[in-house]
Amino acid sequence: MLQTKLTAAQTVETLPQRLGPIPEGHARLRLAVASLCGTDLHYYAHFANAGFQLQNPVTLGHEACAYVVDPNGSDLREGQLVALNPIMNCGECAPCQRGEENLCTAKKFPGSATTVPHLDGFFREVIDHPARCCRPVADGVNPRHLTFAEPMACALHSLNKGGVCAGQQVLVTGCGPMGLLAIAGAAARGAHVTALDLRAGAVEVALKAGAETGLVIGQFDEGEIEKRFDVVVEASGAIPAFNTALKAVRPKGRVSILSNIQLREAQVMLHLIMLKEIEIVGSFQFNREFEEAVQLVESGAVNFDALTAATYPLDRAGEALAAMAAGGAFGKILLLGPEA
Ligand SMILES: [Zn+2]
Ligand SMILES: [Zn+2]
Repeated sequence: MLQTKLTAAQTVETLPQRLGPIPEGHARLRLAVASLCGTDLHYYAHFANAGFQLQNPVTLGHEACAYVVDPNGSDLREGQLVALNPIMNCGECAPCQRGEENLCTAKKFPGSATTVPHLDGFFREVIDHPARCCRPVADGVNPRHLTFAEPMACALHSLNKGGVCAGQQVLVTGCGPMGLLAIAGAAARGAHVTALDLRAGAVEVALKAGAETGLVIGQFDEGEIEKRFDVVVEASGAIPAFNTALKAVRPKGRVSILSNIQLREAQVMLHLIMLKEIEIVGSFQFNREFEEAVQLVESGAVNFDALTAATYPLDRAGEALAAMAAGGAFGKILLLGPEA
């Protein structure tokens, strides 16, 4: 059994994993497939993310699916494939009572500096996880697809915040893994999606993900997309893209911010928010969308293979993170457990 640990910026160690007793309410699982997120990348590069510094080495990873080894008294079945919901909410605070688990005031989240003391994430062979946060799936679901459930839930939350529905014109700025999932999710809802990115290769993948139109920055006239979109999903985290979103959205339209925006000063064209009565909505993690995302994976409606950039075995997690940091990959990078 092995686990990976981020011990310092750009340093991932693979260590033997020692197992203690299974905590109450938890099931013991073995990793099927995990995937890398922009958040993992920030921790890898800086040992910090969005202003939160890690205080000690931690196992990264909050996107994964796994097989049940020991249900530990829960309703789960041994051998069952489950999607892991990483949001461990308290169930009692005011946001939890409203169904807003993402804003739970006592939430625990694995592989994150926001939870103190830090909880280890999913980039390890054996995972003890609350049984109530394990969603069993139908037989035959491919674990390489199911690991997309968590990031897809994030993307669907931003679509819900933006009010994206069938027939709408939707622009997604940024075709990184998160933007690609927003594109796939919006297309699955019957929206007409335009994808925009600096990198022609990323836009090509966006077209496979379900975008009807692909725009490469610098290769079209920005005036053409002005006021054309009911909803813009900002998935790049780049300030110029934020300004493009404000120009491209129609009067009274919505801009939904999905990107992992880092703390910084920015020149934003605030006057457009006033002139066009734009609604700007933030989107952080997800709530009921996790269930929606698992069902979308089960339906087979999304071609997740087209959104997969590369796969690495778990013990090469450091290499996988370095590859993601290098930026050449379009789509998601997966980490495979021993049997995947
Ligand atoms: Zn993530
Ligand atoms: Zn709560």
